[in-house]
Amino acid sequence: MNQKPDAIIIGAGLIGCATAYELTKRGYKTLNIDKLPAAGFGSTSNSCAIVRFHYSTLDGATMAYENYFYWKDWENYIGPVDERGYAKFVECGFVIFRNGDPSEQNFINLFEQIGIPYETWSLEALRERFPIGDLHSFWPPQPIDDETFWDEPTTPLTGGIYNPQGGYVNDPQLATYNLMQAAQRNGGEFLFNAEVVEVRKENGRVSGITLSDGTQIDAPVVVNAAGPHSFIINRLAGVEEGMKIKTNALRREVHHVASPKRFNFNQDGFVFSDADNGIYFRPETGNNILVGSADPECDPKEWVDNPDEYQTELTDELWKTQVYRLARRIPELEIPTKPSGIVSMYDASSDWIPVYDQSDLPGFYLAVGTSGNQFKNAAGVGHLMATLIDAVEKGQNHDEDHVQVKMPYTGVVLNAGFYSRLRELNTESSNTVMG
Ligand SMILES: Cc1cc2nc3c(=O)[nH]c(=O)nc-3n(C[C@H](O)[C@H](O)[C@H](O)COP(=O)(O)OP(=O)(O)OC[C@H]3O[C@@H](n4cnc5c(N)ncnc54)[C@H](O)[C@@H]3O)c2cc1C
Repeated sequence: MNQKPDAIIIGAGLIGCATAYELTKRGYKTLNIDKLPAAGFGSTSNSCAIVRFHYSTLDGATMAYENYFYWKDWENYIGPVDERGYAKFVECGFVIFRNGDPSEQNFINLFEQIGIPYETWSLEALRERFPIGDLHSFWPPQPIDDETFWDEPTTPLTGGIYNPQGGYVNDPQLATYNLMQAAQRNGGEFLFNAEVVEVRKENGRVSGITLSDGTQIDAPVVVNAAGPHSFIINRLAGVEEGMKIKTNALRREVHHVASPKRFNFNQDGFVFSDADNGIYFRPETGNNILVGSADPECDPKEWVDNPDEYQTELTDELWKTQVYRLARRIPELEIPTKPSGIVSMYDASSDWIPVYDQSDLPGFYLAVGTSGNQFKNAAGVGHLMATLIDAVEKGQNHDEDHVQVKMPYTGVVLNAGFYSRLRELNTESSNTVMG
């Protein structure tokens, strides 16, 4: 192992590996350190890995659309890999159920502005393509113990918005492994089963890290890409106080159920945004459906104080909440007696928009607060982080003169200041996982 890297990246999840790959392309000798045994074994491995473009902000939607092209070009972007092969982007299309909420027009305006292809579907068109759906509105979502929960809905949805380029990535852990291999090819190194317990400083600058076994590794640049542990690393570095936007770990469950047999969800299904009903859902291998929460206001948030000790079993309450909501949308759904799914955490920021930034400690950088919505963006985030780090290390004061990042596929220039830790809470944000 190189004992004097140019940059240490704490975390080898999707964001840490993408940042490593992009830094190595710019000539940095990187070292990713992760306390788990392999790349992408943290929250990334539980990601639904949905690729969609309807964000509430122009910058959010622009970044998401740029990353569609990374996924389309994945094999070329990554280069040669070993026998495990490449993660696959399944471009099955994305449907947003419409119930007349004003956010729908905002999404359409952003699609128009950016040039993201979309179609508006009538209720009839939606019914044709999703024949197993109950296309009534369930708004507002209710807790399952609310006495109105099973009330017969009476108001129809108004139709759908369809993005043909939406979809999902079939194997988030493999996508991370792909990025790790690409970084390694450029000389990037990885240290696993190693926990960072100290961020060291010297002369007012970061100077390296210390591991739990006492090993010290020095580097002029340290990047926090610790996912749901990001707030702990920020406290170790003493930079949390200087951030207007904070990050915290938020517990999440995603559940798996079989699709009704008469509809081949894998072949004919889409990824669905069903905020009307408090959920999102997508096809999963073996004619299954994967269902997660769209963060309706009525559901309590489960903040986690200690991400190393949290409830990792599925709970009956959340299982019923998400699967019963899905059963309202798909009345033929058979509800299994045994819950199945995953428990994981988001690294949620104060306004559900990430922090990609420098920090108050020179040399210490932040790739945090991914808020359950940055899987799709990882490669573009790696590009943004590496461009930002390189510019700041060469003397630019990003807090005063925001780094402008030209994105390689669409050619659009993103203002990295959008992700600043010093921003006011973004009032355009949905304040949900939608970003
Ligand atoms: C259930 C779920 C569903 C999601 N669905 C979607 C989706 O559909 N679409 C989308 O775009 N995004 C989605 N996301 C979000 C996306 O998956 C995350 O934003 C992304 O995977 C975060 O990657 P990361 O590298 O920041 O974090 P992680 O993958 O968690 O990596 C952080 C790493 O840091 C390591 N680490 C932490 N502390 C230390 C330490 N002290 N020392 C050493 N190592 C340390 C951890 O072991 C971990 O491996 C979802 C997330 C979850 C949890």
